[in-house]
Amino acid sequence: MVDKEIQLFSPYYRSEECLDEIRECLESGWTGLGYKTITFEKNWCTYTGLSYAHFISSATAGLHLAVKLLKEKHNWQSGDEIITTPLTFVSTNHSILYEHLQPIFADVDEYLCLDPDSVRQKISKKTKAVMFVGLGGNSGQLIEVADICREYGLSLILDAAHMAGTKLFDRHIGSEADVSVFSFHSVKNLPTADGGMICFKDKELDKLVREWTWLGITKDTYQRTSSDSLYKWRYDVENVGFKYHGNSVMAALGIVALRYLESDNDYRKQIAAWYDELIDSSVERVRIAPNCDSSRHLYQILSDKRDELLIALNRQRIYPGVHYTDNTQYRMYAYAKNSCPRATLSCERLLSLPIHLKLTYEDVKRISLAINEFQSHNNIVEVPYRTGLNTNGQTRQQIEA
Ligand SMILES: *Cc1c(COP(=O)(O)O)cnc(C)c1O
Repeated sequence: MVDKEIQLFSPYYRSEECLDEIRECLESGWTGLGYKTITFEKNWCTYTGLSYAHFISSATAGLHLAVKLLKEKHNWQSGDEIITTPLTFVSTNHSILYEHLQPIFADVDEYLCLDPDSVRQKISKKTKAVMFVGLGGNSGQLIEVADICREYGLSLILDAAHMAGTKLFDRHIGSEADVSVFSFHSVKNLPTADGGMICFKDKELDKLVREWTWLGITKDTYQRTSSDSLYKWRYDVENVGFKYHGNSVMAALGIVALRYLESDNDYRKQIAAWYDELIDSSVERVRIAPNCDSSRHLYQILSDKRDELLIALNRQRIYPGVHYTDNTQYRMYAYAKNSCPRATLSCERLLSLPIHLKLTYEDVKRISLAINEFQSHNNIVEVPYRTGLNTNGQTRQQIEA
């Protein structure tokens, strides 16, 4: 019998509970903005302790508006700079370009998050903000970066796409930044099929973002002047806003997922603990920063023979991933190519191991043993190989015999 396939991620929904929540939307006829989106936002604020939260269609949309609204508030000019990381999903850096600002790449640290020293070096007269990504749920040196932002009067945007449930000093992540953006994409820790939450610190910006996610529509003018139902349908449009808000069907999934986020993340931490224990200590791991209780969106290891290891695991029907390609290697961001050596080297050595709620201890053991087997062979035999044949045409077995 062949072993079952083990994927990197596998979204898990509690179907019956989700259907109950969605049924309420369908039966009431309210599937759009409002209703469940409001409940979900309230529940998110209660859970995280963050002051404001607005449910949106994706984290990408949220990052765009985070940059846009801070740009308008502080009167940044096109061409001004935001310091950011090359080791992220492209959404992070695209959001800077959407607003005609310039992404300036700083290097990463041992946690694969922005390195405070590198951030300092990249600050120029044009720098307006820092975009920090908590890779895999890790808070890295966020506090140090926040201190630098305070020192230089820069805004701090937190791409918290991986950080639903991450805590720093026992408090949910997010309050360190001017704005935090969470992703509820189906492979993230709190899946709503697609979606995200934008959490501004500033009440005014929270109010504004609600208009911006709904085409710039505001009902305030008429609500303020009249409670008369005659004016209920009336609204003003103050800006060329976007259609970025979330809807009640997606929020229904979020309401259910949030009930289980703590225990789901506990299970991810259990998987990480199993990997810690079962994988040979000679295998290099990405460590979690001190005082960070990571959501464990990712469990990452590093190997000089990453590609060979990936092939070896694929042969055993195990499918890990890589988070991420150094963004400066994309044509889009090639102007900064090779400016962040640690990120460039890391992206060649990184491997994200499968981590999701359907994994069993046996699965984790199978993955760990496969890695250990690869590691022990590669420690003994120094001959590089790719397809089982070395340059003399010998198989690995022949070499080792
Ligand atoms: C997934 C992800 C995003 C984008 O999230 P969406 O909700 O899919 O738009 C942004 N940043 C990072 C680091 C991500 O992993």
